[in-house]
Amino acid sequence: MVHEIIIRDKHRCLRCRRSNNLCVHEIIPKSVCTDWKREDNQITLCSKCHTEIHAGGALNYVEELKELIYGSSIRNKVYSGL
Ligand SMILES: [Zn+2]
Ligand SMILES: [Zn+2]
Repeated sequence: MVHEIIIRDKHRCLRCRRSNNLCVHEIIPKSVCTDWKREDNQITLCSKCHTEIHAGGALNYVEELKELIYGSSIRNKVYSGL
């Protein structure tokens, strides 16, 4: 079964748009935030971006990743209105 977050993100990494080796990343790690299991805290990433983000420290990417989610949901609304 494909994860609902991957479906929301249209089966691609929101960061680099690849569509292979996808996984779901928690933007704010469970260890830091008790409210982590929210839909807007989860993002589809490929394994390459996922590894990079964890190697660079997940908290350093919080703003960038949230922007990717909100940017794409705004675009989806615009397209569905056409
Ligand atoms: Zn990627
Ligand atoms: Zn992760």
